[in-house]
Formats: sequence, C-alpha cells, structure tokens
Amino acid sequence: MAPLHLALDAIGLKAGDEVLAPTTTFTSTAEVVCYFKARPVLVDVDRESLSIDPADAERRITPRTRAIIAVHYGGQPCDMESIQDMAARQGLRVIENAAHALPASYRGVPVGAISELTAFSFYATKTLTTGEGGMVTTGDGGVAARIRMMRLHGIGRDAWKRYSAERSWRYEVLNSGYKYNLTDIQSAIGLVQLRKCDRMLAARTEIAARYTREFSREDALEVPTVGRDRSSAWHLYTLRLNLEEITITRSEMIEMLKARGVGASVHFIPLHMHPFYQKAYGYREDDLPVASQQYRRYLSLPIFPTMTTAQID
Ligand SMILES: *Cc1c(COP(=O)(O)O)cnc(C)c1O
Repeated sequence: MAPLHLALDAIGLKAGDEVLAPTTTFTSTAEVVCYFKARPVLVDVDRESLSIDPADAERRITPRTRAIIAVHYGGQPCDMESIQDMAARQGLRVIENAAHALPASYRGVPVGAISELTAFSFYATKTLTTGEGGMVTTGDGGVAARIRMMRLHGIGRDAWKRYSAERSWRYEVLNSGYKYNLTDIQSAIGLVQLRKCDRMLAARTEIAARYTREFSREDALEVPTVGRDRSSAWHLYTLRLNLEEITITRSEMIEMLKARGVGASVHFIPLHMHPFYQKAYGYREDDLPVASQQYRRYLSLPIFPTMTTAQID
C-alpha cells in the first residue's frame, strides 16, 4: 500500500522501530512496516467492531514503539478517542488505514481529517476506485511536502522556484524516492467517482439496512452494528455465525451461497495465522484470542451500489 508506505516514511520510521497494527486486516497494513526493517506488532481486535483494541495495543507497547496504525474495519471508524488519548500518553504517532472508510465519519468529522496522516486505497474492490492507486491526507504542510517529494523519485521542486529563469527545466533530486504517482487517467476516473461518492454510499447504506432488518430475526446470525457517534462507509457487510446454532461449517455455508450465485468471502484471515508472520515473528494462534475466535465466525456478503432488489433478496 503505497500511501501507507509514504506515511510511515513521513514520520521517519527507522529499522528496529515497532509499529502497532491490528491482526484482523489485509497484509499490506503490516507489510509496509517490514519495508523499513521495522517490526509490526500485531494487536488483538475489539469483539464488536473487529477493529484494533486500544487497551490491547497499549499492553504491547515497548520502548521501541513509534506508531499505531488504526484500520477502520469494514468502513466503521475505530474508537479514535481512545486511540488518540493512548497515543498522546505514550508518545506514539497515529496513522489511519482508511482503505475501507471512504466516506465515513467519527463524531461529525470525516475520516481523513481526524489524525495527522490517513491512507486511502482506490484498489478495484474499494468504495471509490481508480483500478489501482490511493491517497494520503494530512493537515501538516511539512509532512505533505515530504510525501510529495518521495512519491515521485525524491525530486524537490520548491528550492529553485524563485529562480524564475530556470523554472521550466530545473529540478533537484533530494532523496531516493519511489514511483508512486497516480496516472492522469486514473485521476480523471477518480474525480468522477468522487462526485458519485455520496450517492454510492446511500445505496450501500440502504442495502446494509435491508440485510440487517432481515438477518436480525435469525438466532443463527449476528448482524454488524455501527456506533451512534460514527457513520460507516459500508465497504463490507460482515455477518457472524452463532456456530452453536447451526449444523454446517462456515466453509459449507460459503459454498452453498456460491452455488446460489452469492459471492461471500472472509475478511480477513488474521495476519498472525499466516505463515509469514508466524515464521518471521513467532506468532501463534492463541496470541490474539479475540481475533482468532471471531475469525471462525465471520463472512462478508456482497454489497455494492448497483445491486438490484432481486439480488439483495
Ligand atoms: C484493500 C486494503 C488495503 C490495500 O490497499 P492497496 O491499495 O491494494 O495496496 C490495505 N488495507 C486494507 C485493510 C485493505 O482492505
């Protein structure tokens, strides 16, 4: 995830540092930490929201901990007040991974304007897509300048601006940067998507409400909830199975849905259950018990703006 990589570069992450990140997420959340030879410290999740548990995060802090990455699971903003209080108390930087949360808000503030740095993804499956790509938002001019420089080969454009005679061709390489630019064609697609963003959210919100109305009647199912002080982008609609109420496994259920033309999936296999994180950092399944338990229960149903009533039914 290039935006998250640039965000960690902007806070000056160094080899040997540690970064807290939830285990219930996509691997790019923690993978970017490894780019710096820093250590991703996986954190358990909150039983209800499946987002990072701030109390468990605090327990895993060491003198090397530099930052916390909050992932807004499914599109519902995390408990940002607890995360920011804890980060302030412990001297940590806060970076939001908002790959699921466009548009979403927390206490009336849109995600992207809450923390110092927020990373968005415009990958094909996201609520706003440019095929591939993403975005970082920040309110800090110095951080923005660093990211602008590093996203395109570490080339600086400010230092020489005042020498107007050379303005057209002069550039300076200030760092070994990356080729992380969004193409003009992708940007054009993104601008059109941005105009449709609220309309697409309204459609997803309606689908989620319909699902919840129907599924809350079933003892075998637990429906997702959204805190009253926040709004979800509804990137995912995650149902949980009450396993003691059903006689089939989750896998069988997903296969049966597939046979009926319903593409259900699992978000996510927790990172601490993958071979890489187990081999590199020694994680075992019972290190993060809430995430491991909930993992066996959840599945995500289709939710996209152009779903027809028949498809939702
Ligand atoms: C999709 C996703 C990403 C990856 O974003 P890319 O733009 O594909 O790199 C990161 N984190 C989470 C939680 C995601 O769902």
